[in-house]
Amino acid sequence: MILIRDVGTIVTMDDKRRLLKGHSVFIREGKISAIELTDQLDALLQTQNLHGVTIIDGSESVLLPAFINTHVHTVEHLSRGLIPDDLSTFQWASEYANPFCASLTEDEAYCSAKLACLEMISNGTGCFVDVNILGSLGHVDAIAQAVEDSGMRAILGRGVTDLWPDDMPDITPPLKAALWHSSASEALGEIHSLLSRGTSRAGGRVQLWASIYGLTFFSSDELLKGVRSCANHYNTPLAFHISSSREEAALSLRTHGVWPITRLEHLSVLGPDVLLTHCTLVNDHEVAIMAERDAKVAFCPAAALRLAKGTTQVGKIPEMIESGICVSLGADGASSNGIFDPLRLANLTSGLYKDARFDPSLVPAETALELITREGARAIQAEALLGSIEVGKLADLTLFDSTGPEWAPGHDIPRTMIYSVDGRSIDTVIIAGEIVFQNRQCNSMNSRQVIDEAREIAARIAHRLGLDPRPRWPTIR
Ligand SMILES: [Zn+2]
Repeated sequence: MILIRDVGTIVTMDDKRRLLKGHSVFIREGKISAIELTDQLDALLQTQNLHGVTIIDGSESVLLPAFINTHVHTVEHLSRGLIPDDLSTFQWASEYANPFCASLTEDEAYCSAKLACLEMISNGTGCFVDVNILGSLGHVDAIAQAVEDSGMRAILGRGVTDLWPDDMPDITPPLKAALWHSSASEALGEIHSLLSRGTSRAGGRVQLWASIYGLTFFSSDELLKGVRSCANHYNTPLAFHISSSREEAALSLRTHGVWPITRLEHLSVLGPDVLLTHCTLVNDHEVAIMAERDAKVAFCPAAALRLAKGTTQVGKIPEMIESGICVSLGADGASSNGIFDPLRLANLTSGLYKDARFDPSLVPAETALELITREGARAIQAEALLGSIEVGKLADLTLFDSTGPEWAPGHDIPRTMIYSVDGRSIDTVIIAGEIVFQNRQCNSMNSRQVIDEAREIAARIAHRLGLDPRPRWPTIR
């Protein structure tokens, strides 16, 4: 049991978006069991046996639902800073990121995922989505174990393909083994193997979804329709990388006569349980299709900027939000984006379209905060359990120390959070009713050990792959 007592401001993110002052939150058996004015809750709790309750003083704090990051590749964490930043999406993926990820052993994937979890917890994230895991089912198991050990929640899935376009560089043997299957039925067999072992682990903290690698030019019609059937069979949602870049849209048009989302519509794959990641190249007709099908979006603003995807030129995120489409935010992998702080991703999203279209009314601070909380929960089909602070919901909470200068004078908390605050003032993170981070220290992992192991293993992998991690500037020792 945990009592977060007398919180300065609770940003509930409930249907009325109430901001509660001077309230306390009581957590029991992993759920929020009471939210009351502090005096009233104190009186109520005096009548109960509260032996063993942990009391957190919230009087100089702001409490939010723990953030939800809807697109991550945890195996990319060991490649941070290793891959040049002047590559197109295709070059970055085919020459560096995918071969790197495909080369990791299961132990290395575990180490990388632990580092990713540590960074996400430190930034107030309770749950993330990593559904394009390369390698094998053993790699999925290793990452699931890292999630379980970290105390986080995650949605995991396998990334598989059955096509290799002629204009892509030849597939390397390790990448072939990690990603590619010679037929749709073989690829689908692997998804069945994963999901038939159960779609929930670690007491529900780890969920398995039907997924394929995505970027639909890597996928035959048979694979796309088959993974839809697979999701129906195991009653799981479904996720794709899609319409990520100009190259992908052009290739889809050349090969299939339509852009990727239209292709999914023609194949009857879309639905309210589908999470579409990236969605940079989407036309107005496709926005209408997505709204009609109630498909969800994981937009990755920092990766879009670094890989020059053109989101400020052609992106339709404001139109999607305007159409009622659920838009959530993802970090993507650490080699295409270095930002795992959801507040920084929300800040970027809030600013990109204001500037690109000379329109300061686009993506206001309140909307940006919704993208990383309640819309994140909606994107993963968990709005009944996560994404807001309400009695009966799961106790995934992030407590900010609001005494720093970036919080002052504190006139409008949502605006202050999106335009001024970042993850550095997070003091405490609670996931599933457990305090996994407190006083800016991780309780569930030995941070020093996780970081030291990651450094050592990352250097070993770079050496093994013949990649030179040295900066462009001269290093003097
Ligand atoms: Zn991705």
